Amino acid sequence: MEPQPQPVPNDALRAQGVIVTSLEDLYNWGRRNSVWPLQFGLACCAIEMIATTMARFDMARFGSEVFRPSPRQADLMIVSGTVTKKMVPQIVRLYNQMAEPKYVVAMGACAISGGPFKQGYNVLKGIDRYIPVDVHIPGCPPRPEALLHALMTLQEKIGSQRLTGEDRPRHLRAEAPSEFAIPVHGKHDIEPPCNPEVWSAPSGAPGAAAGGGGTTEPGAGGGR
Ligand code: SF4
Repeated sequence: MEPQPQPVPNDALRAQGVIVTSLEDLYNWGRRNSVWPLQFGLACCAIEMIATTMARFDMARFGSEVFRPSPRQADLMIVSGTVTKKMVPQIVRLYNQMAEPKYVVAMGACAISGGPFKQGYNVLKGIDRYIPVDVHIPGCPPRPEALLHALMTLQEKIGSQRLTGEDRPRHLRAEAPSEFAIPVHGKHDIEPPCNPEVWSAPSGAPGAAAGGGGTTEPGAGGGR
């Protein structure tokens, strides 16, 4: 019986200047180290986001210093600040204009839940009611370290994505939407009250049975 060739360990190959990897790892390595954020901010959290790009925290170490002024060239939307209902259509429109694969970080208490303005008639109780959020950052405001941690969390997520198979990410699924209907300002509130494709109210919450949006009528518990 002929002796079978033994596989050469990767370390031995690397010592000879040969690097062995998979197309999937190469693809993910390139994407996770060049996540370019969209250049926009909504309120005080945006100041911390700006600080993250300065020399002290140096977001460039993570390949994400290139904030793009156009959604067409951006991979990451950092929702940093209070999301007023007036701004929601613009945010959804910008999200729609970003090319896949695209990601969203909700930065700060306002972006994830309405924060200190949660009871305000004009403030959305979380941007994840209209667009899919990949990483949530609590805090008011979160410090730059927290944003860097969120970026590293996103990088880990991108790095672990598989290009094929049942658990492949959303942007590789033909049936998964990458654009959503832009909400409008109705008579009393923003309509629809949420995007049922990405969000539903926790079971037992008011309005859960009606699709998770709660009431849009004024004077009935604050609506959204
Ligand atoms: S979470 Fe706090 S710091 Fe951030 S936008 Fe809201 S109020 Fe401002």
